[in-house]
Amino acid sequence: MLKRIVRRNFLLLIILCISTSVLSQEPQKKSKNIILLIGDGMGLSEISSSLYFNDNPSSFLRFNTVGLSMTSSSKELITDSAAGATAFASGIKTYNGAIGVDEQMNPVETLVELISKKGVVTGLVSTSSVVHATPAAFYAHQESRRMYDAIAEDLVKSDIDFFAGGGLQYFQNRADGKNLIKALRDRNFQVETEKLPQKISEKKQAILLAADGMPKMSENRGNFLTNATMLAIGQLSKNPEGFFLMVEGSQIDWGGHANDGEYLINELIDFDKTIGAVLDFAKKNGETLVIVTADHETGGFSLSANEGNYNKIIASFSTTGHTATMVPVFAQGPGEGHFGGIYQNTNIFFLMKRLFNRN
Ligand code: MG
Ligand code: ZN
Repeated sequence: MLKRIVRRNFLLLIILCISTSVLSQEPQKKSKNIILLIGDGMGLSEISSSLYFNDNPSSFLRFNTVGLSMTSSSKELITDSAAGATAFASGIKTYNGAIGVDEQMNPVETLVELISKKGVVTGLVSTSSVVHATPAAFYAHQESRRMYDAIAEDLVKSDIDFFAGGGLQYFQNRADGKNLIKALRDRNFQVETEKLPQKISEKKQAILLAADGMPKMSENRGNFLTNATMLAIGQLSKNPEGFFLMVEGSQIDWGGHANDGEYLINELIDFDKTIGAVLDFAKKNGETLVIVTADHETGGFSLSANEGNYNKIIASFSTTGHTATMVPVFAQGPGEGHFGGIYQNTNIFFLMKRLFNRN
């Protein structure tokens, strides 16, 4: 009798195990929070430098799921950051230079707009100006990435609850005389222009710490990227409906354009450090999906042998522009399994939208 009960319960256990494992393959596991980290211009060689030029273990080694993203824009084989970020933010391929608009220059709904309607709060942290192409595509709709003043106005009107980076000159002392700092305060933002606040705020936060781009790492930017990211997480994670945060290591790309290996690697190591802090948070939190990727590769960067010496690596470049190489996508957290494989950059938008769906 006892034997039979044990056997029956054992069978039941097996059935239960099978049914839950089948369920977990479906996107039942929704992400409460998503943190998207974009290393602008960060290809595989850039990522690999975190193995060779790092005082700490590379944060990339902590991911189990890796995919590859095809980065071409709608008209060009080689994308720029505007079309690349619009692909992540709105799920469309558009022309180079486009910010949140399609090929016909019509505005396209962004992930930020979509999830804000469901009570999810949103933030942006960048080492460029906050109106630069990558962050801009998440809140603005403009025909050209160069329309910085118009993009700044879009940011004031947008659903973004927290932002930190450079770009103060687009908000005050503007050619058109508009005072967007006042406009931000009118929209319940606490505005900081001197240094990163130590504490989270009851209000929304606008943090603008440089006239245009933030300083380089070599010019004493310090821990801005990690600290601003952790401040954003501290503030946004108070929201019971969850949050979306985009964090950009903007200047990896600028090191690539300058063909300056030291500049590129310093920025990459800083970004790697921020990834580590985000993964630590996500591990404790348990409901946060972390995605790390790039919009494209810059510079045709490679880690070459120095004069034939296979034990000495030097940075070399093949172009001062962007390249068409696929870029890696790393994912960790609820839903990470969907990020394996080779796919278009727009797929990252569709996965985030699906994993975020609260209905
Ligand atoms: Mg950028
Ligand atoms: Zn670039």
